[in-house]
Amino acid sequence: MAITRILIANRGEIALRIHRAAHEMGIETVAVHSTADADAMHVRLADHAVCIGPPSATDSYLNVANIISAAEVSHADAIHPGYGFLSENAKFAEIVEAHDIAWIGPKPEHIRTMGDKVTAKTTAGDLGLPLVPGSPGAVGSVEEAKKIAAEIGYPVLVKAASGGGGRGMKVVPSEDLLEGLMSQAKSEAKSAFGDDTVYLEKYLGNPRHIEFQVFGDGNGNAIHLGERDCSLQRRHQKVLEEAPSPVLSTEERNRMGQVCADAMAQMGYRGAGTIEFLWENGEFFFIEMNTRLQVEHPVTEAITGVDLVREQIRIAEGRPLSVKQEDIRFEGHAIECRINAEDPFTFAPSPGKVSYYHAAGGMHVRVDSGIYAGYSIPPYYDSMIAKLIVYGRTREGCIMRLKRALDEMVVEGVKTNIPLHQALLAEPDILNGDYSIKWLEAWLAERES
Ligand code: ADP
Repeated sequence: MAITRILIANRGEIALRIHRAAHEMGIETVAVHSTADADAMHVRLADHAVCIGPPSATDSYLNVANIISAAEVSHADAIHPGYGFLSENAKFAEIVEAHDIAWIGPKPEHIRTMGDKVTAKTTAGDLGLPLVPGSPGAVGSVEEAKKIAAEIGYPVLVKAASGGGGRGMKVVPSEDLLEGLMSQAKSEAKSAFGDDTVYLEKYLGNPRHIEFQVFGDGNGNAIHLGERDCSLQRRHQKVLEEAPSPVLSTEERNRMGQVCADAMAQMGYRGAGTIEFLWENGEFFFIEMNTRLQVEHPVTEAITGVDLVREQIRIAEGRPLSVKQEDIRFEGHAIECRINAEDPFTFAPSPGKVSYYHAAGGMHVRVDSGIYAGYSIPPYYDSMIAKLIVYGRTREGCIMRLKRALDEMVVEGVKTNIPLHQALLAEPDILNGDYSIKWLEAWLAERES
């Protein structure tokens, strides 16, 4: 089925990203927006625009009925959800398909399977992915938790089955604290996700976060596009991502990438996905799978030359993958900085009017952003206002170019975390690629003292 008009159920830079891929394929776009986003760039660029509600995301970007009505009245024949909002909502995917609208995403049953972390882990294990040692499934009682924790050894991590964004997660250093922390995790999970199911994992001391990009055609064919290293995190939020990972050898990449691709083929997975692992001492441990496009997907595009959104759209049209595994080459190095409207060191959000804006440019510099001079960043949504993605033939060259590009970026009127990125790129550990998921918080704590 040829798609002719895509409704983009998102906002900001990712809505623009999808719009661009669509237009390059000769496909029209429909923007949806809240009243707070009437002047947003994604609305200005789209061929059609429909207002779907007031500022609060619950009433607009998460409003299923309004989005489906917008698709009906605008005669959209496909919906792309972007990331966040409804992108991993299996029910929404089903509703879209029930309206005979093409869903540019994975099969609803796979979104559901991977959305529950306990089921995701069991499924991943069955598909041959290496797991973090832990409870085989949900943990019912404190006694059971104690028994499992004793087997895997402390510290352990209590995690919420419906978790996300690091919520409902507690590190338990020793047995005497297990009962209290487990009940805290349960009540946190209950209030955040309406589900207090928890499970146990061995707590890894100093891992890296390494994730593989995968693609399936839904008919048992799947490929991988290598990994991204997203170890630079604060409160489980990624700050800077790079591809390839500074610590993986070509053999490890090919081996692990193939394990991921085989798992997706076996599953009959459709569309884009990301399989996330913690990596420690040369070993991979599956933590979760994201059944959508990721914020950091452009670093993969930079080193492989594959347009991931175009691929998603093609697959939704029922066409085969446009590349074979053996055609994919990993060349050079790419780094992405997430530019947020926030204080660079206290991280307090800084919404408001952008009085002046100049984007970095030049060879191998990509800026994905929806802001412009005169634009008012609304306080209702995520603070990310731009992504700066830089490519270089080597990691060193990429970093030199990234520093140059960061110096060129000007955003006035609001605070941004550009100074944080500049400070990070002066750190020997970052320059050497020598950092784990713990590095940034330790660095920030030291800076404060
Ligand atoms: P969420 O969906 O809440 O983001 P994840 O399972 O993706 O939860 O974990 C988020 C982050 O928590 C990881 O990127 C990592 O920093 C940390 N983490 C998760 N599991 C473990 C573990 N077993 N040991 C150490 N850190 C972990």
